Amino acid sequence: MQAQTLAAQYDVVVVGGGLVGASFALNLAQQTRDSGYSILVVEAVDSKNFDQQPSFDSRSTALSFGSRQIFETMKLWSAIAPLVEPIVEIQVSDRGHFGRTTLSSAEQGVEALGYVIENRELGGVLSEAMQASSVVNLLAPAKISQIKPCQSGMELTLARDEQLTRLSAKLVVLADGGRSSICKNLGIDQTQTDYGQHAIITNVAFEKPHLGVAFERFTESGPLAVLPLADFQGSNRGSLVWTVSELSRAELLSCDEEIFRSRLTQYFGERLGRILQIGQRVAYPLSLTLAREQIRPGLVLLGNVAHTLHPVAGQGLNLALRDSAALVHQLVSAKAQGVSPGEMKILQAYLELQNQDQSESVLFTDQTVKLFSNDRWAQRAIRKLGLLGLELLPSVRSRFAQSAMGLKP
Ligand SMILES: Cc1cc2nc3c(=O)[nH]c(=O)nc-3n(C[C@H](O)[C@H](O)[C@H](O)COP(=O)(O)OP(=O)(O)OC[C@H]3O[C@@H](n4cnc5c(N)ncnc54)[C@H](O)[C@@H]3O)c2cc1C
Repeated sequence: MQAQTLAAQYDVVVVGGGLVGASFALNLAQQTRDSGYSILVVEAVDSKNFDQQPSFDSRSTALSFGSRQIFETMKLWSAIAPLVEPIVEIQVSDRGHFGRTTLSSAEQGVEALGYVIENRELGGVLSEAMQASSVVNLLAPAKISQIKPCQSGMELTLARDEQLTRLSAKLVVLADGGRSSICKNLGIDQTQTDYGQHAIITNVAFEKPHLGVAFERFTESGPLAVLPLADFQGSNRGSLVWTVSELSRAELLSCDEEIFRSRLTQYFGERLGRILQIGQRVAYPLSLTLAREQIRPGLVLLGNVAHTLHPVAGQGLNLALRDSAALVHQLVSAKAQGVSPGEMKILQAYLELQNQDQSESVLFTDQTVKLFSNDRWAQRAIRKLGLLGLELLPSVRSRFAQSAMGLKP
Protein backbone atom coordinates (compact mmCIF):
# COMPACT_ATOMS: atom_id res chain seq x y z
CA MET A 1 0.00 0.00 0.00
CA GLN A 2 1.51 3.33 -1.05
CA ALA A 3 1.44 5.46 2.11
CA GLN A 4 -0.72 8.52 1.41
CA THR A 5 -0.58 10.04 4.88
CA LEU A 6 2.18 9.52 7.36
CA ALA A 7 1.51 8.59 10.97
CA ALA A 8 3.72 10.13 13.65
CA GLN A 9 4.56 6.75 15.13
CA TYR A 10 4.92 3.21 13.79
CA ASP A 11 5.71 -0.07 15.50
CA VAL A 12 8.29 -1.01 12.86
CA VAL A 13 9.98 1.23 10.27
CA VAL A 14 12.10 -0.54 7.65
CA VAL A 15 14.78 1.70 6.12
CA GLY A 16 15.41 0.44 2.56
CA GLY A 17 12.90 -1.44 0.43
CA GLY A 18 15.50 -3.47 -1.49
CA LEU A 19 15.45 -7.26 -1.72
CA VAL A 20 16.05 -7.69 2.01
CA GLY A 21 13.94 -4.84 3.45
CA ALA A 22 10.97 -5.67 1.21
CA SER A 23 11.17 -9.42 1.98
CA PHE A 24 11.38 -8.78 5.72
CA ALA A 25 8.42 -6.33 5.74
CA LEU A 26 6.21 -8.70 3.71
CA ASN A 27 7.15 -11.65 5.91
CA LEU A 28 6.34 -9.71 9.09
CA ALA A 29 3.04 -8.52 7.58
CA GLN A 30 2.10 -12.09 6.60
CA GLN A 31 2.95 -13.64 10.00
CA THR A 32 1.33 -10.91 12.11
CA ARG A 33 -1.56 -9.82 9.91
CA ASP A 34 -4.17 -10.56 12.57
CA SER A 35 -2.27 -9.11 15.50
CA GLY A 36 -1.41 -5.92 13.67
CA TYR A 37 2.02 -4.31 13.83
CA SER A 38 1.98 -0.99 12.00
CA ILE A 39 4.75 -1.25 9.39
CA LEU A 40 6.32 1.48 7.24
CA VAL A 41 8.94 0.82 4.54
CA VAL A 42 10.91 3.87 3.41
CA GLU A 43 12.71 3.41 0.09
CA ALA A 44 14.96 6.00 -1.54
CA VAL A 45 14.18 5.00 -5.13
CA ASP A 46 10.75 5.08 -6.74
CA SER A 47 9.77 1.41 -6.60
CA LYS A 48 8.11 1.55 -10.02
CA ASN A 49 11.30 2.86 -11.58
CA PHE A 50 13.28 -0.39 -11.77
CA ASP A 51 16.04 1.02 -13.97
CA GLN A 52 17.30 3.13 -11.10
CA GLN A 53 16.68 0.69 -8.26
CA PRO A 54 20.14 -0.60 -7.21
CA SER A 55 18.72 -3.63 -5.42
CA PHE A 56 16.64 -4.81 -8.40
CA ASP A 57 19.44 -4.66 -10.97
CA SER A 58 20.68 -6.91 -13.78
CA ARG A 59 22.27 -9.47 -11.43
CA SER A 60 20.76 -12.88 -10.89
CA THR A 61 20.40 -14.65 -7.58
CA ALA A 62 20.52 -18.36 -6.86
CA LEU A 63 17.77 -18.81 -4.29
CA SER A 64 18.32 -21.81 -2.05
CA PHE A 65 15.71 -24.46 -1.39
CA GLY A 66 15.47 -22.95 2.12
CA SER A 67 14.64 -19.53 0.61
CA ARG A 68 11.91 -21.13 -1.48
CA GLN A 69 10.40 -22.47 1.76
CA ILE A 70 10.51 -18.97 3.28
CA PHE A 71 8.77 -17.45 0.23
CA GLU A 72 6.20 -20.26 0.45
CA THR A 73 5.30 -19.32 4.01
CA MET A 74 5.03 -15.71 2.80
CA LYS A 75 2.57 -16.92 0.10
CA LEU A 76 4.81 -15.39 -2.59
CA TRP A 77 6.32 -18.50 -4.14
CA SER A 78 3.43 -18.95 -6.60
CA ALA A 79 4.28 -15.51 -8.08
CA ILE A 80 8.05 -16.23 -8.07
CA ALA A 81 7.97 -19.81 -9.42
CA PRO A 82 7.12 -18.93 -13.06
CA LEU A 83 10.16 -16.61 -13.17
CA VAL A 84 12.85 -19.00 -11.90
CA GLU A 85 15.04 -21.61 -13.54
CA PRO A 86 15.52 -24.66 -11.28
CA ILE A 87 19.11 -25.89 -10.82
CA VAL A 88 19.03 -29.66 -11.16
CA GLU A 89 22.80 -30.17 -11.20
CA ILE A 90 25.90 -28.25 -10.12
CA GLN A 91 29.19 -29.05 -11.83
CA VAL A 92 32.21 -27.93 -9.81
CA SER A 93 35.60 -27.98 -11.56
CA ASP A 94 39.11 -26.56 -11.32
CA ARG A 95 40.54 -25.01 -14.48
CA GLY A 96 43.63 -26.79 -15.74
CA HIS A 97 43.66 -29.40 -12.95
CA PHE A 98 42.31 -32.84 -12.33
CA GLY A 99 39.34 -32.92 -9.97
CA ARG A 100 35.71 -32.31 -10.70
CA THR A 101 32.48 -33.12 -8.96
CA THR A 102 28.79 -33.11 -9.72
CA LEU A 103 26.00 -32.45 -7.24
CA SER A 104 22.56 -33.44 -8.37
CA SER A 105 19.05 -32.80 -7.09
CA ALA A 106 18.18 -36.48 -7.67
CA GLU A 107 20.98 -37.57 -5.31
CA GLN A 108 19.87 -35.06 -2.67
CA GLY A 109 16.25 -36.15 -3.01
CA VAL A 110 14.95 -32.65 -3.76
CA GLU A 111 13.19 -31.19 -6.77
CA ALA A 112 16.00 -28.65 -7.33
CA LEU A 113 19.29 -27.61 -5.68
CA GLY A 114 18.31 -23.98 -6.07
CA TYR A 115 16.38 -21.57 -8.25
CA VAL A 116 17.92 -18.81 -10.36
CA ILE A 117 16.01 -15.57 -10.72
CA GLU A 118 16.96 -12.17 -12.10
CA ASN A 119 17.00 -9.58 -9.31
CA ARG A 120 14.85 -7.30 -11.44
CA GLU A 121 12.14 -9.99 -11.62
CA LEU A 122 12.29 -10.80 -7.91
CA GLY A 123 12.20 -7.08 -7.12
CA GLY A 124 9.11 -6.74 -9.31
CA VAL A 125 7.25 -9.42 -7.33
CA LEU A 126 8.24 -7.87 -3.98
CA SER A 127 7.34 -4.34 -5.10
CA GLU A 128 3.94 -5.40 -6.37
CA ALA A 129 3.28 -7.35 -3.17
CA MET A 130 4.13 -4.26 -1.08
CA GLN A 131 1.81 -2.08 -3.21
CA ALA A 132 -0.98 -4.66 -2.86
CA SER A 133 -0.51 -5.24 0.88
CA SER A 134 -3.04 -3.74 3.25
CA VAL A 135 -0.52 -3.99 6.11
CA VAL A 136 2.78 -2.71 4.67
CA ASN A 137 2.90 1.04 4.11
CA LEU A 138 5.43 1.87 1.39
CA LEU A 139 6.88 5.35 1.08
CA ALA A 140 8.97 5.77 -2.09
CA PRO A 141 10.84 7.76 -3.15
CA ALA A 142 11.77 9.03 0.32
CA LYS A 143 14.96 8.90 2.33
CA ILE A 144 15.80 8.53 5.98
CA SER A 145 18.60 10.96 6.69
CA GLN A 146 19.04 10.42 10.40
CA ILE A 147 18.10 8.09 13.24
CA LYS A 148 18.52 8.77 16.93
CA PRO A 149 17.29 7.12 20.11
CA CYS A 150 14.21 8.61 21.79
CA GLN A 151 11.95 7.60 24.66
CA SER A 152 9.61 5.44 22.57
CA GLY A 153 12.39 3.80 20.56
CA MET A 154 13.97 5.65 17.63
CA GLU A 155 13.30 9.02 16.07
CA LEU A 156 13.74 9.15 12.30
CA THR A 157 14.23 12.16 10.05
CA LEU A 158 12.56 11.62 6.72
CA ALA A 159 13.39 13.61 3.58
CA ARG A 160 10.68 13.69 0.92
CA ASP A 161 9.91 16.28 -1.77
CA GLU A 162 12.61 18.51 -0.25
CA GLN A 163 10.79 18.51 3.08
CA LEU A 164 11.95 17.06 6.37
CA THR A 165 9.48 15.20 8.61
CA ARG A 166 10.08 13.51 11.96
CA LEU A 167 8.49 10.23 12.96
CA SER A 168 9.19 7.58 15.54
CA ALA A 169 9.33 3.80 15.64
CA LYS A 170 9.50 1.22 18.41
CA LEU A 171 11.85 -0.72 16.14
CA VAL A 172 13.93 0.45 13.17
CA VAL A 173 15.01 -2.32 10.81
CA LEU A 174 18.00 -0.94 8.94
CA ALA A 175 18.18 -2.61 5.50
CA ASP A 176 19.84 0.19 3.55
CA GLY A 177 22.62 -1.90 1.98
CA GLY A 178 26.39 -2.13 2.25
CA ARG A 179 27.17 1.58 2.05
CA SER A 180 25.00 2.79 4.90
CA SER A 181 25.59 6.40 5.90
CA ILE A 182 23.09 5.93 8.75
CA CYS A 183 25.33 3.29 10.29
CA LYS A 184 28.28 5.65 10.13
CA ASN A 185 26.30 8.43 11.78
CA LEU A 186 25.28 6.05 14.55
CA GLY A 187 28.95 5.19 15.13
CA ILE A 188 28.50 1.52 14.17
CA ASP A 189 31.87 0.37 12.84
CA GLN A 190 32.49 -2.33 10.28
CA THR A 191 35.35 -4.76 9.78
CA GLN A 192 36.34 -5.13 6.16
CA THR A 193 38.41 -7.72 4.31
CA ASP A 194 39.05 -6.52 0.80
CA TYR A 195 39.55 -9.54 -1.47
CA GLY A 196 41.13 -7.33 -4.17
CA GLN A 197 38.64 -8.88 -6.56
CA HIS A 198 35.68 -7.73 -8.61
CA ALA A 199 32.71 -9.67 -9.94
CA ILE A 200 31.92 -9.09 -13.60
CA ILE A 201 28.27 -9.80 -14.23
CA THR A 202 26.58 -10.27 -17.55
CA ASN A 203 24.00 -12.47 -19.26
CA VAL A 204 25.35 -14.75 -21.97
CA ALA A 205 23.51 -16.50 -24.82
CA PHE A 206 24.99 -19.94 -25.59
CA GLU A 207 24.63 -22.26 -28.54
CA LYS A 208 23.37 -25.20 -26.44
CA PRO A 209 20.68 -25.34 -23.71
CA HIS A 210 21.94 -25.53 -20.12
CA LEU A 211 19.43 -28.23 -19.11
CA GLY A 212 19.27 -26.81 -15.60
CA VAL A 213 23.02 -27.23 -14.94
CA ALA A 214 24.91 -24.57 -12.96
CA PHE A 215 28.68 -24.42 -13.50
CA GLU A 216 31.10 -23.33 -10.79
CA ARG A 217 34.64 -23.24 -12.15
CA PHE A 218 37.66 -22.30 -10.09
CA THR A 219 40.37 -20.48 -12.02
CA GLU A 220 43.75 -18.89 -11.13
CA SER A 221 42.13 -15.46 -10.87
CA GLY A 222 39.06 -16.59 -8.92
CA PRO A 223 35.78 -18.47 -9.30
CA LEU A 224 33.64 -18.24 -12.42
CA ALA A 225 30.00 -19.27 -12.27
CA VAL A 226 27.42 -19.68 -15.01
CA LEU A 227 23.90 -20.03 -13.63
CA PRO A 228 21.05 -21.31 -15.80
CA LEU A 229 18.48 -18.63 -16.69
CA ALA A 230 14.92 -19.07 -17.90
CA ASP A 231 14.62 -18.97 -21.71
CA PHE A 232 14.02 -15.56 -23.19
CA GLN A 233 12.75 -15.35 -26.77
CA GLY A 234 14.14 -18.80 -27.52
CA SER A 235 17.75 -18.07 -26.50
CA ASN A 236 19.75 -20.36 -24.16
CA ARG A 237 20.76 -17.92 -21.48
CA GLY A 238 23.17 -18.15 -18.57
CA SER A 239 24.05 -15.60 -15.91
CA LEU A 240 27.82 -15.11 -15.65
CA VAL A 241 29.50 -14.14 -12.37
CA TRP A 242 33.24 -13.91 -13.12
CA THR A 243 35.57 -13.03 -10.28
CA VAL A 244 38.64 -11.18 -11.54
CA SER A 245 41.51 -8.97 -10.35
CA GLU A 246 41.43 -5.15 -10.53
CA LEU A 247 43.63 -5.24 -13.64
CA SER A 248 41.46 -7.76 -15.49
CA ARG A 249 38.32 -5.90 -14.43
CA ALA A 250 39.33 -2.76 -16.32
CA GLU A 251 40.38 -4.78 -19.36
CA LEU A 252 37.29 -7.03 -19.44
CA LEU A 253 34.90 -4.12 -19.03
CA SER A 254 36.45 -2.03 -21.79
CA CYS A 255 37.35 -4.67 -24.41
CA ASP A 256 35.03 -5.24 -27.35
CA GLU A 257 32.56 -8.14 -27.35
CA GLU A 258 34.69 -10.35 -29.60
CA ILE A 259 37.67 -10.21 -27.23
CA PHE A 260 35.45 -10.77 -24.19
CA ARG A 261 33.92 -13.78 -25.88
CA SER A 262 37.28 -15.37 -26.64
CA ARG A 263 38.59 -14.70 -23.09
CA LEU A 264 35.46 -16.28 -21.62
CA THR A 265 35.75 -19.30 -23.91
CA GLN A 266 39.37 -19.68 -22.76
CA TYR A 267 38.25 -19.91 -19.10
CA PHE A 268 34.83 -21.56 -19.39
CA GLY A 269 35.44 -23.78 -22.42
CA GLU A 270 32.70 -24.91 -24.77
CA ARG A 271 30.53 -26.75 -22.26
CA LEU A 272 27.48 -25.00 -23.64
CA GLY A 273 28.77 -24.70 -27.19
CA ARG A 274 29.73 -21.38 -28.74
CA ILE A 275 29.00 -18.07 -27.04
CA LEU A 276 26.52 -16.26 -29.28
CA GLN A 277 25.86 -13.01 -27.45
CA ILE A 278 27.03 -11.05 -24.42
CA GLY A 279 24.79 -8.63 -22.51
CA GLN A 280 25.80 -5.47 -20.69
CA ARG A 281 28.86 -5.98 -18.45
CA VAL A 282 28.81 -4.57 -14.89
CA ALA A 283 31.45 -4.94 -12.17
CA TYR A 284 31.03 -5.11 -8.37
CA PRO A 285 33.94 -4.78 -5.90
CA LEU A 286 34.10 -7.78 -3.57
CA SER A 287 34.76 -7.72 0.14
CA LEU A 288 33.69 -9.31 3.37
CA THR A 289 32.17 -6.51 5.43
CA LEU A 290 30.71 -7.17 8.86
CA ALA A 291 29.03 -4.67 11.18
CA ARG A 292 30.55 -4.74 14.68
CA GLU A 293 27.09 -4.31 16.21
CA GLN A 294 23.85 -5.66 14.76
CA ILE A 295 21.44 -4.63 17.49
CA ARG A 296 20.85 -1.71 19.80
CA PRO A 297 17.68 -0.87 21.74
CA GLY A 298 15.07 -0.15 19.05
CA LEU A 299 17.45 -0.99 16.17
CA VAL A 300 18.43 -4.07 14.16
CA LEU A 301 20.60 -4.36 11.04
CA LEU A 302 19.53 -6.74 8.24
CA GLY A 303 21.06 -7.77 4.91
CA ASN A 304 24.18 -6.20 3.40
CA VAL A 305 24.40 -3.52 6.08
CA ALA A 306 24.91 -6.32 8.65
CA HIS A 307 27.06 -8.63 6.49
CA THR A 308 28.20 -8.27 2.89
CA LEU A 309 29.59 -11.54 1.57
CA HIS A 310 31.53 -12.56 -1.55
CA PRO A 311 29.00 -14.03 -4.03
CA VAL A 312 31.06 -17.21 -4.63
CA ALA A 313 28.82 -19.42 -2.52
CA GLY A 314 25.57 -17.56 -3.24
CA GLN A 315 24.87 -17.02 0.46
CA GLY A 316 24.22 -13.26 0.88
CA LEU A 317 20.53 -12.96 0.17
CA ASN A 318 19.78 -16.50 1.31
CA LEU A 319 21.34 -15.78 4.71
CA ALA A 320 19.48 -12.45 4.94
CA LEU A 321 16.19 -14.24 4.25
CA ARG A 322 16.91 -16.72 7.06
CA ASP A 323 17.84 -13.78 9.36
CA SER A 324 14.56 -12.08 8.41
CA ALA A 325 12.53 -15.21 9.13
CA ALA A 326 14.22 -15.58 12.54
CA LEU A 327 13.58 -11.92 13.39
CA VAL A 328 9.93 -12.23 12.35
CA HIS A 329 9.65 -15.29 14.60
CA GLN A 330 10.88 -13.25 17.60
CA LEU A 331 8.60 -10.31 16.76
CA VAL A 332 5.58 -12.61 16.60
CA SER A 333 6.40 -13.91 20.06
CA ALA A 334 7.02 -10.33 21.34
CA LYS A 335 3.53 -9.44 20.17
CA ALA A 336 2.04 -12.47 21.93
CA GLN A 337 3.87 -11.52 25.16
CA GLY A 338 2.87 -7.86 24.89
CA VAL A 339 6.54 -6.81 24.75
CA SER A 340 7.72 -3.88 22.59
CA PRO A 341 9.42 -5.07 19.35
CA GLY A 342 12.43 -2.86 20.10
CA GLU A 343 13.18 -4.45 23.50
CA MET A 344 16.77 -5.69 23.78
CA LYS A 345 15.71 -9.11 25.05
CA ILE A 346 13.74 -9.70 21.82
CA LEU A 347 16.62 -8.55 19.62
CA GLN A 348 19.16 -10.52 21.65
CA ALA A 349 17.04 -13.66 21.28
CA TYR A 350 17.02 -13.08 17.52
CA LEU A 351 20.79 -12.71 17.37
CA GLU A 352 21.34 -15.82 19.50
CA LEU A 353 19.11 -17.75 17.11
CA GLN A 354 21.07 -16.62 14.05
CA ASN A 355 24.58 -16.34 15.48
CA GLN A 356 25.73 -19.80 14.42
CA ASP A 357 24.11 -19.60 10.98
CA GLN A 358 25.76 -16.24 10.31
CA SER A 359 29.21 -17.39 11.51
CA GLU A 360 29.04 -20.60 9.46
CA SER A 361 27.87 -18.81 6.30
CA VAL A 362 30.62 -16.18 6.64
CA LEU A 363 33.30 -18.83 7.28
CA PHE A 364 32.11 -21.12 4.49
CA THR A 365 32.13 -18.23 2.00
CA ASP A 366 35.45 -16.74 3.14
CA GLN A 367 37.27 -20.08 3.11
CA THR A 368 35.87 -20.99 -0.30
CA VAL A 369 37.18 -17.68 -1.70
CA LYS A 370 40.62 -18.15 -0.16
CA LEU A 371 40.95 -21.81 -1.07
CA PHE A 372 39.88 -21.42 -4.66
CA SER A 373 41.33 -18.03 -5.55
CA ASN A 374 45.00 -18.75 -5.98
CA ASP A 375 47.34 -21.23 -7.46
CA ARG A 376 49.80 -21.98 -4.62
CA TRP A 377 50.66 -25.68 -4.74
CA ALA A 378 49.51 -26.47 -1.20
CA GLN A 379 46.11 -24.96 -1.80
CA ARG A 380 45.91 -26.66 -5.16
CA ALA A 381 46.50 -30.00 -3.44
CA ILE A 382 43.85 -29.32 -0.76
CA ARG A 383 41.50 -28.19 -3.49
CA LYS A 384 42.09 -31.36 -5.47
CA LEU A 385 41.50 -33.47 -2.36
CA GLY A 386 38.42 -31.40 -1.59
CA LEU A 387 36.90 -32.00 -5.00
CA LEU A 388 37.88 -35.66 -4.84
CA GLY A 389 36.36 -35.92 -1.37
CA LEU A 390 33.17 -34.39 -2.69
CA GLU A 391 33.20 -36.85 -5.54
CA LEU A 392 33.98 -39.94 -3.48
CA LEU A 393 32.19 -39.43 -0.18
CA PRO A 394 28.42 -39.13 -0.44
CA SER A 395 28.14 -37.78 3.12
CA VAL A 396 30.63 -34.94 2.40
CA ARG A 397 28.89 -34.19 -0.86
CA SER A 398 25.53 -34.14 0.86
CA ARG A 399 26.80 -31.68 3.50
CA PHE A 400 28.34 -29.43 0.84
CA ALA A 401 25.10 -29.53 -1.17
CA GLN A 402 23.06 -28.74 1.93
CA SER A 403 25.26 -25.73 2.72
CA ALA A 404 25.03 -24.53 -0.87
CA MET A 405 21.24 -25.00 -0.80
CA GLY A 406 20.94 -23.02 2.42
CA LEU A 407 19.47 -26.06 4.18
CA LYS A 408 21.13 -26.79 7.47
CA PRO A 409 21.48 -30.48 8.38
C1 LIG B 1 27.58 -10.16 -8.14
C2 LIG B 1 26.71 -10.61 -6.99
C3 LIG B 1 26.01 -11.82 -7.07
C4 LIG B 1 25.23 -12.26 -5.99
N1 LIG B 1 24.61 -13.46 -6.07
C5 LIG B 1 23.92 -13.93 -5.00
C6 LIG B 1 23.29 -15.21 -5.02
O1 LIG B 1 23.35 -15.94 -6.02
N2 LIG B 1 22.62 -15.65 -3.90
C7 LIG B 1 22.53 -14.85 -2.79
O2 LIG B 1 21.93 -15.29 -1.80
N3 LIG B 1 23.10 -13.64 -2.74
C8 LIG B 1 23.79 -13.15 -3.81
N4 LIG B 1 24.36 -11.91 -3.77
C9 LIG B 1 24.15 -11.06 -2.57
C10 LIG B 1 22.84 -10.27 -2.65
O3 LIG B 1 22.77 -9.60 -3.89
C11 LIG B 1 22.77 -9.27 -1.50
O4 LIG B 1 22.83 -10.00 -0.31
C12 LIG B 1 21.48 -8.45 -1.52
O5 LIG B 1 21.35 -7.75 -2.72
C13 LIG B 1 21.46 -7.47 -0.36
O6 LIG B 1 20.29 -6.71 -0.42
P1 LIG B 1 19.99 -5.52 0.60
O7 LIG B 1 18.52 -5.26 0.44
O8 LIG B 1 20.55 -5.81 1.93
O9 LIG B 1 20.84 -4.28 0.07
P2 LIG B 1 20.65 -3.41 -1.25
O10 LIG B 1 20.36 -4.30 -2.39
O11 LIG B 1 21.85 -2.52 -1.34
O12 LIG B 1 19.35 -2.52 -0.99
C14 LIG B 1 19.36 -1.40 -0.12
C15 LIG B 1 18.12 -0.57 -0.42
O13 LIG B 1 18.05 0.49 0.52
C16 LIG B 1 17.73 1.72 -0.15
N5 LIG B 1 18.29 2.80 0.68
C17 LIG B 1 19.61 3.06 0.91
N6 LIG B 1 19.74 4.10 1.77
C18 LIG B 1 18.47 4.51 2.09
C19 LIG B 1 17.94 5.54 2.93
N7 LIG B 1 18.75 6.35 3.65
N8 LIG B 1 16.59 5.69 3.02
C20 LIG B 1 15.77 4.86 2.29
N9 LIG B 1 16.22 3.86 1.49
C21 LIG B 1 17.54 3.69 1.39
C22 LIG B 1 18.36 1.56 -1.53
O14 LIG B 1 17.74 2.40 -2.50
C23 LIG B 1 18.12 0.07 -1.80
O15 LIG B 1 16.89 -0.17 -2.43
C24 LIG B 1 25.14 -11.45 -4.83
C25 LIG B 1 25.83 -10.22 -4.75
C26 LIG B 1 26.62 -9.82 -5.82
C27 LIG B 1 27.39 -8.51 -5.71
